[in-house]
Amino acid sequence: MRLNKTIGILGGGQLAKMLAIAAANLGFNINIYCPDRDCPAAQVASKVIFGNYDDSDNLVAFAKNVDILTYEFENIDTKALEELDQQVEIRPSIKALKISQDRYTEKSYLNSLGIKTTQFYKIDSVADIEKLLNRLKKPILIKTRRLGYDGKGQVLIKNQDDINKYFLGKSLAPSIAEEVISFDRELSIIIVRDKKGNIKAFEPGENVHEHGILLTTTLPTSTSEVLKNNATIIAKKIVNDLGYIGVMGVEFFLKEQGLYVNEIAPRVHNSGHWTMDGSYSSQFQQHIRAIMDLPLLSTERHSDVIMYNLIGTVTSNLVNNELAKVYIYGKKDVLPGRKMGHVNLIKKKGS
Ligand code: AMP
Repeated sequence: MRLNKTIGILGGGQLAKMLAIAAANLGFNINIYCPDRDCPAAQVASKVIFGNYDDSDNLVAFAKNVDILTYEFENIDTKALEELDQQVEIRPSIKALKISQDRYTEKSYLNSLGIKTTQFYKIDSVADIEKLLNRLKKPILIKTRRLGYDGKGQVLIKNQDDINKYFLGKSLAPSIAEEVISFDRELSIIIVRDKKGNIKAFEPGENVHEHGILLTTTLPTSTSEVLKNNATIIAKKIVNDLGYIGVMGVEFFLKEQGLYVNEIAPRVHNSGHWTMDGSYSSQFQQHIRAIMDLPLLSTERHSDVIMYNLIGTVTSNLVNNELAKVYIYGKKDVLPGRKMGHVNLIKKKGS
């Protein structure tokens, strides 16, 4: 049975592929818009339109044929999206996208809700970096305000030599400087909200990153119930304030019993892949249900789980493990640092 509704997804990567599978299982048609003919989502979509994200005409033509538009990544030109917004409802809203696209706007927004972030500073020139380093006299992380992900667009500056090495004679993209925080652990939460304001949150997972890239997400974490509840309260505050529709990922640093939000992602998130096998519903099902006005499902966890990203490889002992749930994204080229797939290793809850 087809529900005779078509969902458009901007982006054709692994997140779009897993969203498309969840949507197809509910009988929806899925149209994908992406620039890459070999994109993972093309393997499972009803239709794929190839085009660049700044090609307004092509985007508008794409949007004409869908009932709801969603996206799998946040670095889409909002000017083009504003045009699309006139034609079709975009869920989650452009407002959420705009906030999360710019690290300065994002952290300022979170602080305005009374949510703690690491200390951050606006950086518009190399001189700003020099002044700040002289004032703080401790290492700072320079991150580009836009287009950064998986640790890209980030450099650690400890002294003048580092400034010379990374920035001398180069033009600096608008950036922020962040204090380097020595956190105890990193957590993230996947939350979903529908149009009526119903909210479901998955249990927070513990994340390990290497070189800014997520390696593993583990559930359960040894984090206290109080902190897990606090993480949920913070995530709820954000989605309620935004009148958000869909799944959001919220990443936290945990330090001395305090939670600092590092980042919000207005979309399904890598640290939520464990939900595919560890919970009664997956983040992908929940996103599709929320944006299509279907009732949300239980987010209860039924198994202990470790999600391992396959980074720069599709071969691993994990892939042959008897208890492994394996997801290979089908990307054409295996490149260092590229997410090629993931494995969920599950076992009976509490065993
Ligand atoms: P981001 O792209 O901001 O999510 O950063 C990627 C990863 O780099 C984070 O998950 C942390 O492991 C690390 N990181 C980012 N910002 C900081 C910070 N201010 N202090 C310490 N580690 C950080």
